[in-house]
Amino acid sequence: MSKKLNGTVIVTYRCNAKCTMCNRYKVPSKPEEEISIETIRKLPEMYFTNITGGEPFIREDLKDIVRELYKKSDRIVISTNGFFTDRIVDLCREFPQVGIRISIEGLEKTNNEIRGLDDGFNRGYTTLKTLVDMGMKDVGFGMTVQDKNASDLVPLYEISDELDMEFATASLHNSFYFVESNNIIKDRLAVAENFEKLVNRLLESNSPKKWFRAYFNHGLINYIFSQKRLLPCDMSFDTFFIDPYGDVMPCNGTKEKEVMGNLNEQSWDELWSSEAAENVRKKVRCCDRNCWMIGSVSPAMHKYIWKPAFWVIRHKFLRFFKKKKYSMFENKIVRDYRDGRVTKEQLDACSTCEACAAKK
Ligand code: SF4
Repeated sequence: MSKKLNGTVIVTYRCNAKCTMCNRYKVPSKPEEEISIETIRKLPEMYFTNITGGEPFIREDLKDIVRELYKKSDRIVISTNGFFTDRIVDLCREFPQVGIRISIEGLEKTNNEIRGLDDGFNRGYTTLKTLVDMGMKDVGFGMTVQDKNASDLVPLYEISDELDMEFATASLHNSFYFVESNNIIKDRLAVAENFEKLVNRLLESNSPKKWFRAYFNHGLINYIFSQKRLLPCDMSFDTFFIDPYGDVMPCNGTKEKEVMGNLNEQSWDELWSSEAAENVRKKVRCCDRNCWMIGSVSPAMHKYIWKPAFWVIRHKFLRFFKKKKYSMFENKIVRDYRDGRVTKEQLDACSTCEACAAKK
């Protein structure tokens, strides 16, 4: 039996939000060209599938897609902005085991400003509460941390904690997927300070899962200071993304879209072992974008488990025996920046933000 993969299915590029850090809504897919059930049937066996967009619940046949995907996937998580409460609730009634992650970018005012969705916070929050009240077990928030909302990071974590929900974080990235190349954190120290507080809140909990999330957030500090990824990136080896047009890609972090093949036209085996797929894998091996998004980091954390595990053990030991909290200054680059050995311009130039890189 061949190895199960980790897949992300981008079911649509249509979106009802207008996030400041993502221009995808300006380049939507057309309903008639979006990935069909026939193409979804050709996907391989997966141990994990993320369904995302655009806004996946814009597709009125999402239930049919999920039904089909459950035939080949052990676990499914849908990323959504939570706006279409009725559709989400309806889907969750049929699939109570599905995971739902709702993007909430801050407390009310900040969220609505960043997402460009009037009443977006209340709609998202109402959806979350409704799902929890229904007894859904796998529900959580997702937040893209940036200058504007960093101070809401810990308060939002607290809300998720009270509701006993997962809390997923990300930071600004640039790529073809976001149709954006000028995202960048301006005040790195201020943003990192909020991540530092979150790391400490996660480390003080009794949940091993949260300790590993602390490591992920430590990796985000490393990322916003434009440093090399803490873990290797093996996207396209046992992980893939497929877009609404049937194109299979290694990830959503590359500058231009990298295509391994098209599942509308090829069989999975043909596509996965093709020369085009091998060429993409060669590019991934020397990719220098250093992104740190859960889609590429979660498989790496499982594969190279000893690295995060060592970090967790060390920090739990320091807390317990030495009463020493995590500090962002244990990252050399953060110390160098604080002490003026590295300038903002130098960090900006190493980022994937094209406007800053051009100034080099
Ligand atoms: S580092 Fe990995 S996830 Fe990021 S763009 Fe490169 S290959 Fe994709």
